[in-house]
Order: sequence, then structure tokens, then C-alpha cells
Amino acid sequence: MSAESVKKVSVATVWLDGCSGCHMSFLDIDERLIELADVIDIVYSPLIDNKIFPEQVDLTLVEGSVSSEDDLAKIKKIREHTRLLISMGDCAVTGNVPSMRNPLGSEKILQHIYLKHAPSTIVPRLLSRVLPVHQVVSVDVFLPGCPPSADVIYYTLTELLAGREPDLINYTRFGK
Ligand code: SF4
Repeated sequence: MSAESVKKVSVATVWLDGCSGCHMSFLDIDERLIELADVIDIVYSPLIDNKIFPEQVDLTLVEGSVSSEDDLAKIKKIREHTRLLISMGDCAVTGNVPSMRNPLGSEKILQHIYLKHAPSTIVPRLLSRVLPVHQVVSVDVFLPGCPPSADVIYYTLTELLAGREPDLINYTRFGK
């Protein structure tokens, strides 16, 4: 069978309420991205032009927490159309930095930050609490870290592509 006829694994990356640092870490995979490009197709991402989430994606990496109604609608739709969903980074896994607004309440933040200091009419409606992704939809793999390193993202992708469950213990502070 020729290399061209092998079906590639479709991969999406999504940016909810995060700083883009997790996507920078993904890009830090560097030359290993060329190796990955032989077996994956990036079908939706802030890194490419496609603006419509495909009907079915094999693997989606999600950066950021769920902070607005837009995030909520987006992640629910993505979950429906994704086989394996990966929470990438602490904002997706725990709420991390965006969830620091939770004790203050969304109205105060909206008035103070968005309407007073950065007036805008296009701010999506904020949820009353910032949520980690797994509190809204089911998540298959958790990649902690702020951001997770390029090595851990690469390891996770290659393990999943090989049909194995990634064992992340060696990539956490509890690892050997
Ligand atoms: S986990 Fe850290 S690097 Fe990733 S989006 Fe959140 S703040 Fe940024």
C-alpha cells in the first residue's frame, strides 16, 4: 500500500479561554511536527484557515477553560464531533488563571474589565463561573501543565496514534 493511500488521523486544536501558551507549546514540538504530518491531518485549529469544525474528528486538543456562552456552545458541538477529546493545559484541566474571577462574580468583571477599561459591544456573554472542560463535557485524556511541555504533548499524541493510553506519570512532578 502506498504512503499516500494510508488514511491519516484527523486532529483539531481548539482555543477557548486561554492565553495561547498551550498552542505555542504544541508548536514547540518543532521538527517532530514534520514527522507527525506523515500520519495526522490538522483539520481545524487557530493555526490553519478552516473555520468550520468538521463532521468527525479523531482527536481534538482543547486549550483554555469554559468561560462564556460561546465557549460552552463550542465545546459541546466539538465533543459531539470528536472521538477523543484531550484537555490540554491547566486552564482546560482545572480552570487555572481564568477561574480566578470566580470569587468576584462575572458582572463585576464584565463592568470593570470589559466595559470600563476595554469598551466593547462584542463581548460574549460570560458564564457566572469559569469551568474546566470536564465539568461541561466528557474528557478522555488530561494533560496538566501551564503549559504542558512540547515533549508531553508529543508523547501523548504518539501514544494515542499507536493505540495506547499515554502513561503521564513520568511527565508530572510526581514522576520518577
Ligand atoms: S494552561 Fe497556561 S499556557 Fe495554557 S492557556 Fe492556560 S495560562 Fe496559558
